Amino acid sequence: MSRRALRPILALLLLLGLALVIWPATQVAREQALSRLHDEADNELRLSVAGLRGHLSRHEYLPQLLASREPVQRFLEAPSRHSAQSLNLLLDGFRAIADVSDVYLLDRHADTLAASNWHRPDTFIGQNYTFRSYYSDAIAGREGRFYGLGVQSLERGYYFSAPVWLPDDEREPAGVMVVKVLLDAQEAAWAEQQAELLVVDGQGIIFMASQPELRLAALKPLSDAERRDLLATRRYADESLAPSGLRRLEPRGDHSDLVTFAHGPLRDQTFLRQVRPLPELGWEMHILKPLTAVQAAQWQAALLAGGLYGILVLGAGVGWQRLRLRRQREHFAERERQTLAQARDELERNVARRTRDLVESNRRLSDEIEERRRAEATLRQTQDELIQAAKLALLGQLAAGINHELNQPLAAVRSYAENARAFLARQQAERADANLAEIVELTGRMAEISAQLKQFSRKSGEQLTSVSVGDCFGYALRLYRARLDQDGVRVERRWPEAPVWVRADLVRLEQVLVNLIGNALQAMAQTPSPRLILGIDTLDDEVRIEVTDNGPGIPESQLSRIFEPFFTTKSPGTGLGLGLSISSRIIADLSGRLGAENLPEGGARFTIRLPRDRSPEASEPPSTQERHSHG
Ligand code: ADP
Repeated sequence: MSRRALRPILALLLLLGLALVIWPATQVAREQALSRLHDEADNELRLSVAGLRGHLSRHEYLPQLLASREPVQRFLEAPSRHSAQSLNLLLDGFRAIADVSDVYLLDRHADTLAASNWHRPDTFIGQNYTFRSYYSDAIAGREGRFYGLGVQSLERGYYFSAPVWLPDDEREPAGVMVVKVLLDAQEAAWAEQQAELLVVDGQGIIFMASQPELRLAALKPLSDAERRDLLATRRYADESLAPSGLRRLEPRGDHSDLVTFAHGPLRDQTFLRQVRPLPELGWEMHILKPLTAVQAAQWQAALLAGGLYGILVLGAGVGWQRLRLRRQREHFAERERQTLAQARDELERNVARRTRDLVESNRRLSDEIEERRRAEATLRQTQDELIQAAKLALLGQLAAGINHELNQPLAAVRSYAENARAFLARQQAERADANLAEIVELTGRMAEISAQLKQFSRKSGEQLTSVSVGDCFGYALRLYRARLDQDGVRVERRWPEAPVWVRADLVRLEQVLVNLIGNALQAMAQTPSPRLILGIDTLDDEVRIEVTDNGPGIPESQLSRIFEPFFTTKSPGTGLGLGLSISSRIIADLSGRLGAENLPEGGARFTIRLPRDRSPEASEPPSTQERHSHG
């Protein structure tokens, strides 16, 4: 369920909790306040009861006291003979002293003979009280008590009566002495109290009440018999004795309950009622304490409990919120940790993978390097071998030329030698000597040719030295001198006076030049007036060496292929197709480049570019100096 949906339920639960907290708190407060009120009511009731009892008991002995008085008895012995007036005065004086309402004397037939109110229009004198119980009790020889409304005055009074005995007649009383006490002063005193006080008689009639309107109201409905009885004693005259409207709400122990009133001045108020019986008077005294204090206490308790509950709920809410925040933070932190861990794992995996890849490619690279090194070594070896092979091939070519070169002088030497012998035989020493001189010259030429061959067969040194390009050309040309002469090739030397130096391996550079010149000569084999142009140029740090012929040139389609090994257009035995490839290799080894191009006017040009060596004297060891010249 979503949090939003939970909200009303939570609110309901909180309200329920509030009710659950407030309800018992108010109940406890109510019980405590009621208990206090109960005690209070009990005390007040006890005091009021004592007050009422005291008030009445103060007068209860009066009738007896009066009945024993001689003037009274004397008067009763012969009422007609005595003046009632003196008795009236006596009774009135007594009334005033005892502070009672009325004092009066009845004869044995209940007729009033004398009374303290003799002088008032509503005097009791002449009235008959047979119906009153204080008469019947007293005439029966007992002391009487009665309460009710006065027949004349309609005032509520308490009546004490006592029989009047004549000294010489003990069979029946001669009359009845009655003292009437008013109760208004007591009620007036009750008005001070913060409670309602009721005095209720045996029939449930409120006889006394702090609230005037409640007086002579009935707490419970009266039965017909009771009404008849009341009428007989005329206790309450013709009062309607309407219902008081009191309703019991809740019993609280033996003599206590909660009550309210359906009408009247105390309508809708709730009271704690406490009841105390006054058996000697035939009454009960009720005290009604308003529940204002209880309600206040309940409100207080409710507010207190509600406040505490609010603080508790607020605290719980704050605590919960903090807990939730902490959980969220932990949750986030955990997720962050996880994400970080994942990222780290991923990174580690990546690094591991990359490392593996790197190791792998490194291994491959090392393998390749190793392979390369091996291949390079093999290549170098092959190259050296090829160079050697090419030299040998060249040598083969040269051999034919040399053979031709040597054969001719050899044949000449032979004929010169034969001539010399013939001249010696004829004793012609001078002519023989001339022939021998020819022989010497021819052998010199032959030695030169063989020297050139020796030169060519040298193996290259590893060391680079300063080499004069012009000298290299000189050597190559010398190698081809016979052929150049034979083919009638015009050679043009285009280089400066001062030697141009490059840093190179002398033998290899010579080999390249020999190769280029050889190719040019071969190319110009069918050319009518062959021309070989040899050039040396210096450009800043570069030396440019050119071999140009006026042969047929190189077909455009082959221009890109001529540096490939074994590319040749020559017939087997004539060319191996290695010359240019080896030459370009050698030049590359010397940090230079070898290129070919066709000239617009016909013929091919091969160009070597090499780094220039500016100060050969300074860097050059003297031992290599002799290699620059080929004698
Ligand atoms: P080979 O001379 O054994 O054929 P090279 O590598 O020296 O091998 O030459 C390769 C080819 O280049 C030759 O077969 C030839 O066709 C061409 N070539 C070389 N020099 C020239 C030149 N000066 N003029 C025309 N063609 C040439």
